[in-house]
Amino acid sequence: MKVARPIARVIEALQSLPGIGPRSAERLAYHLWRLPEDQVQQIADDIKGLKTMTVSCRECYNISESELCWICEDTGRNPSLVMVVEEPLDVSAMERTGKFDGLYHVLGGVLDPIRGIGPDELRTYELMDRIQLRLEKGSESIEIVLATNPSTEGETTAIYLRKMIVERFPGQPIKVTRIARGLPVGSDLEYADPMTLSRSLEGRIEY
Ligand SMILES: [Zn+2]
Repeated sequence: MKVARPIARVIEALQSLPGIGPRSAERLAYHLWRLPEDQVQQIADDIKGLKTMTVSCRECYNISESELCWICEDTGRNPSLVMVVEEPLDVSAMERTGKFDGLYHVLGGVLDPIRGIGPDELRTYELMDRIQLRLEKGSESIEIVLATNPSTEGETTAIYLRKMIVERFPGQPIKVTRIARGLPVGSDLEYADPMTLSRSLEGRIEY
């Protein structure tokens, strides 16, 4: 099948996205072509903005428009309750439940030796620094909620982090908990419905 090269390029680009097969990519490309030029320009600008207009929050590493994200900036949230998640998408999933009033720490992935991802490739030391800072500020008790996905790598990462925290801060008032019990094994937080997710948050256990 011959198509004009600009159309073929967009089809190819869309097809590289998760969950989009060749037929959907084709349909979307032609749909975009039919839209008024200013609307297409806006979509293109918005996509570009994903990269050019965002930074990592300097506290929690969530996606942010400014140095501190809106969650870290919110003084109504409990800074002694920190939930560790894999990706910014997990922050969105948890925020949708409306049941978590602490702060987050985005690891940037999970430990995966096969792919060469060790603790240095994630924000593990940054998490330890945050805990240290919190202790120095005289926090009476800190809870770290490990909310990595219930996959093999997610579990391994949670176990690793718990060990790291226990070894780094012996005798300190730090409680480590784990959510994701009740979430289907191997599933991602992002696919859990808000109800299941908030239940698994409420039912978190000391880890
Ligand atoms: Zn933040």
